[in-house]
Amino acid sequence: MTADLITLTAAQMAEKLAAGEITSVELTQAHLDRIAAVDGAVHAFLHVNAEEALAVAAEVDAARAAGESMHRLAGVPIAIKDLIVTVGQPTTAGSRILEGWMSPYDATVVEKIRAAKLPILGKTNLDEFAMGSSTEHSAFGDTHNPWDLDRIPGGSGGGSAAAVAAFEAPLALGTDTGGSIRQPAAVTGTVGVKPTYGGVSRYGAIAMASSLDQIGPVARTVEDAALLHELIGGHDPRDSTSLADPVAAFAAAASAAAVDGSVEGLRIGVVTELQGEGYQAGVLDRFHESLDLLREAGAEIVEVSCPHFQYALGAYYLIMPSEVSSNLAKFDGVRYGLRTLPTEGPMTIERVMAATRAAGFGDEAKRRIILGTYALSAGYYDAYYGSAQKVRTLVQRDFDAAFEQADILISPTAPTTAFRLGEKTDDPLAMYLNDVATIPANLAGVPGLSLPSGLATEDGLPAGIQLLAPAREDERLYRAGAALERLLVRRWGGPLLEKAPDLLSARDDASLTTTGGEK
Ligand code: GLN
Repeated sequence: MTADLITLTAAQMAEKLAAGEITSVELTQAHLDRIAAVDGAVHAFLHVNAEEALAVAAEVDAARAAGESMHRLAGVPIAIKDLIVTVGQPTTAGSRILEGWMSPYDATVVEKIRAAKLPILGKTNLDEFAMGSSTEHSAFGDTHNPWDLDRIPGGSGGGSAAAVAAFEAPLALGTDTGGSIRQPAAVTGTVGVKPTYGGVSRYGAIAMASSLDQIGPVARTVEDAALLHELIGGHDPRDSTSLADPVAAFAAAASAAAVDGSVEGLRIGVVTELQGEGYQAGVLDRFHESLDLLREAGAEIVEVSCPHFQYALGAYYLIMPSEVSSNLAKFDGVRYGLRTLPTEGPMTIERVMAATRAAGFGDEAKRRIILGTYALSAGYYDAYYGSAQKVRTLVQRDFDAAFEQADILISPTAPTTAFRLGEKTDDPLAMYLNDVATIPANLAGVPGLSLPSGLATEDGLPAGIQLLAPAREDERLYRAGAALERLLVRRWGGPLLEKAPDLLSARDDASLTTTGGEK
């Protein structure tokens, strides 16, 4: 019974709840049981809030029984990346410096989730302040990829992606500054969306790099991501960069496309610069197979060149740390969380701040604060930060030109499948290269969606494919994403996640066979 419930899509859960076939208490309990059974091995969660989740579930059940009209997702449980602030549950940002801190307010997205009555299962693990591609920079231990527990779940939102992949939660929230929703989705066989910049309020998402950060949905299907996006999206006067646009009917677009997603005449642009050298052969094979499926279904595949994308990673690693150095200045041992006193010498406020920051931040956060402070310093500002901003404009112009030739752009999401834990921790540059295909979208503010393209033959692990649309055209992404998902699922003979070895062996449903995943 538990396995039957937790492997449903969020849309199916919502339907069964509305029809009175299941209760939210049953559904929430099934997920809590699953967390209890597998999270010791996966470690997707930093904090589980069983009591509150069950209380919300009971409220939903009572309200439904009384005939109250509810949000479509009412009663469907959700997990939240621990970068997003929540009243009543700790928020750590994966950092010692916030250990023990409790937010006095909810993020706007959390307010919306509470108003719609989705039981919040808990907070998920991440790289410290969302800096990383493997979740290994968390101060609270690694998260393991449910496909192979010796491998990384991606980052920084590895906890949210692993929770959804391991059926510990049907939905989760992530944040994406350079790829932290899409790359974890790619390496865990799940779906992740970075909305158009400004499409979802950032109020209450602890800022990493404010001009790049975006909250977005993590799910197992395109339709489920669309449902969650619709709930969290929309204008927020508390976020000065929030768009005024009303939220479009993303879920309707996705579900219509999932039933009969025609891609007839859709112009799909393959970005020359986001493939080839540095990409794993199996990832490229799955990518080309997806292109063939789209072509056979009537899409027009065109090649587009975005020549400045080759400088996007370099520009990102100047702009992002510059914003990090400013945003993280507030963690000073006075206002939040940790306070460490100097062990010797005078007890001045500067020395308390220095001792707190030395003890509270991990190596990666320190590296970026130092890099950003340097890039912004007088004399270097024009050479580094100023040049990076110019590159950013050129990347935006490349997108504008590409979208004249194509409705959707397409690329592999990440250059490789999940690598082994520890493999890249000593090599920051190798770690940074994971986001080579996802960063351009953040620099330009355009929306991006990653969905699984299949299993790479050499390692049996999931590969991801990324769709990009012009700013404010998120609906187009959902329509095209659901159409491609339908073609792929038909080709595999079922959802990809049901082919995962480790995560299914922990299920009580033994009927599914396992494939791939040599260790
Ligand atoms: N991996 C990228 C980085 O380390 C992206 C992080 C993110 O999107 N939060 O900066």
